[in-house]
Amino acid sequence: MAKSGEHPFEQEIDKSVDSEQEMADKPVYERDYDRQAKKLQDKVAIITGGDSGIGKAVAVHFAREGADVVIVYRKEKEDAEDTKTLVEQKGRRAFLIETDVSINANCEDIVRQTLAQFGKIDILVNNAAIQVTHQDLTEISEEEWDQTFRVNIYAQFFLTKAALPHLKAGDSIINTASVNAYKGNKQLVDYTSTKGAIIAFTRSMSAQLAEKGIRVNAVAPGPIWTPLIPSTMHKDRTEFGKEVPMKRAGQPAEVAPSFVFLASEDASYFTGQCLHPNGGSVLNT
Ligand code: NAD
Repeated sequence: MAKSGEHPFEQEIDKSVDSEQEMADKPVYERDYDRQAKKLQDKVAIITGGDSGIGKAVAVHFAREGADVVIVYRKEKEDAEDTKTLVEQKGRRAFLIETDVSINANCEDIVRQTLAQFGKIDILVNNAAIQVTHQDLTEISEEEWDQTFRVNIYAQFFLTKAALPHLKAGDSIINTASVNAYKGNKQLVDYTSTKGAIIAFTRSMSAQLAEKGIRVNAVAPGPIWTPLIPSTMHKDRTEFGKEVPMKRAGQPAEVAPSFVFLASEDASYFTGQCLHPNGGSVLNT
């Protein structure tokens, strides 16, 4: 019979370890790492599509947290130079590689050049992508379907495969997916299909690499104001992203902290997961 003021089951619960002070093996509430000022001190990160948009914000945020970055871009040299300057203003090094990540040999070369420049790889951000809108599936040629897959998902396979022999416990891979992977997009069927593949790739690789202590996660942004948007869809920022609960497009700076989190030890118990900076869209994940 429970005493008055006592939960009826309480008497059946072993209360001998009710206090942390009485535990021989105490839970860790703060790690040495948590006391560091910078989350990514002296890490080396490869960021594809690091010249502009989300990749640029990731480069700047990584540098702010103490990382050196390799910025891989297709041909937007001015954007890449600008990002390099911003990284250097944070006191870190940026190395630019202009290349096409849809070709395997180029991805192997990115890894070679990174090792030659910085001697190691700690973080791989597979972020480069292309998209072209079409009203009807019949408008998409085999070549275009192929190219979208090559840039958006084959490149993630190529670069991950090339980097893998150089990754070690504590390292992290982050793949940029999209909200479209979860809700579909009738104008971006090929692009959206690659984003679904990226989620499956992320989950599969996380399972394969968990034993090695290498974490693999994804970020699935909602509508974010970057060069990809005016070049392929909306010219006007105020017209873009109105459909989400927050009724506006996000900024790359609102997405980059998800990458910092996943790259850092803060996310040491996260793998195979996807973060959703998307203005409040509720998804079936
Ligand atoms: P962005 O145009 O700034 O970035 C795309 C990058 O991909 C460019 O830097 C470009 O250099 C690079 N790239 C394209 N083809 C390449 C190739 N063949 N080789 C090497 N690099 C190549 O646009 P963004 O919006 O910042 O896109 C970054 C990522 O975010 C993409 O994966 C995109 O799918 C994803 N995303 C964007 C949004 C959005 O609303 N902007 C939403 C969801 C997901």
